[in-house]
Amino acid sequence: MKEACSSHHFERTLCGLGVFSGQNITVRCISGETGGGWTLVRTDLPGTPRIPIHPAQVTATERATTLGQGEARVCLMEHFLAALWASGWPNMCIEVNGPELPLLDGSALPWMEMLGEARTPPVGPPVTRSLEIREGDAVVAVDPAEELRFSYSIDFPSPIGAQSASFSPSQERFLEELAPARTFLFQHEVELLIEDGKLAGGTLENALVAVPGGWLNPPLRFPEEPARHKLLDLVGDLALLGAIPRGHYRAHRAGHRLHVALAQRLAGEV
Ligand SMILES: [Zn+2]
Repeated sequence: MKEACSSHHFERTLCGLGVFSGQNITVRCISGETGGGWTLVRTDLPGTPRIPIHPAQVTATERATTLGQGEARVCLMEHFLAALWASGWPNMCIEVNGPELPLLDGSALPWMEMLGEARTPPVGPPVTRSLEIREGDAVVAVDPAEELRFSYSIDFPSPIGAQSASFSPSQERFLEELAPARTFLFQHEVELLIEDGKLAGGTLENALVAVPGGWLNPPLRFPEEPARHKLLDLVGDLALLGAIPRGHYRAHRAGHRLHVALAQRLAGEV
């Protein structure tokens, strides 16, 4: 793998299958220079293009959050970004040799094991007014609050049903409460993705698969693992901002598109 980042004291590599592309993907994280922030680099493309990690760089939000710059894209950023934020690394260069990050076990746990806990998660200045984005009965919002907090509720067909989760980094550990929660999808969605040729490399190791009345690959890690995973996705999408502004974030039946819309609003992009 071509090296695009200068080497510093922290350097870790993780490999896994790209579930959409079917490619073997290698991700190398190198802690960068002070003030450098987070940078994403496609090492397999000519000129090793850099993709800034910012809400304005999101090019797609269907099934996963994709960042892009010019022709260069990296899909499935959200679980990694949640872990990068939670690990507290202020400067990190992320080299990727393909169009997506590996899904691994569908959670942020392998990324946390890679990154460790360097510092506390970065919290930005407080939000001073409430913001709300609605689409049908889906909503994502933030209200001013004394501390950073996230609440998420979902309502899916059986076996998930209505469930909710909340997280406050000052009171709970991301590593234990959110990082282990895995991606989930319904078997009919898996079948559609395979039919459309959009799932070249996925296996039952990469996600929880729901079937009517139960799960294809139990056991769950938490009774409300799907709600916790949605909250993990929200944290990952807000981590596009770097430091997440202090506030109480709440979401109901939302997804990456609404999460990213809120991040963009907070970044002053819209
Ligand atoms: Zn997810």
